[in-house]
Amino acid sequence: MVRVERQRLADRSVTDHALRLSFGEDQTPLKVLCLGAHSDDIEIGCGGTILELVQARPDVELTWVVFSAPDVRAVEAKDSARRFIGERATTAVELHSFRDGFFPVLFGDVKEAFEGIARRFRPDVVFTHRREDRHQDHRVVSDLTWNTFRRATILEYEIPKWDGDLSAPNFFVPLSTGTAKRKIQLLMEAFASQRSKDWFDEETFRGLARLRGVECRADSGYAEGFFARKLSMAW
Ligand SMILES: [Zn+2]
Repeated sequence: MVRVERQRLADRSVTDHALRLSFGEDQTPLKVLCLGAHSDDIEIGCGGTILELVQARPDVELTWVVFSAPDVRAVEAKDSARRFIGERATTAVELHSFRDGFFPVLFGDVKEAFEGIARRFRPDVVFTHRREDRHQDHRVVSDLTWNTFRRATILEYEIPKWDGDLSAPNFFVPLSTGTAKRKIQLLMEAFASQRSKDWFDEETFRGLARLRGVECRADSGYAEGFFARKLSMAW
């Protein structure tokens, strides 16, 4: 499922970064599941990666699930998913309205929702919250991801926040300059309801992407960081 990109020596002297892995070249269509507790989580955590993915793999089948998207946030979530995914990929957007902040006490119902997703979709790759995320809803989604999707490659994304729970990712997706800009622009356009939060601004997102770009020597200087707990590889 994960493949080391063949890179000519001449290329390496120019780019001078670690060997890059590519996903599921033999898998068509590639099935990707994006899970987010709240309506902006997927976009913040892996929006750039999704923008690059739908460009590179128009055959991708995406299922995009937001667990707490009530009222105005449901409209935002749907609209934003469409902006990030575009028209090319086959997509299912699934919105739930579990109460924000209460996922630990709604664990059984959220687990039922996961079982339903697993019955309808068999993903190759899953993007989800990080296990150590300090938001309780994020942790529940992360735990149930590992519980439910045991054959998929699971990549955990990061969300900057007041709690200060960022760490050192071990997996990176370099973004082009255009993708990094587009991600931030879409975030600003799509989530008007988040504008009042003091951390939700262009500088937060650009700063984090720049740091992750430094950590993986991204050619553009920008990247998204992930936590890959288990990867298997074949030469
Ligand atoms: Zn969230």
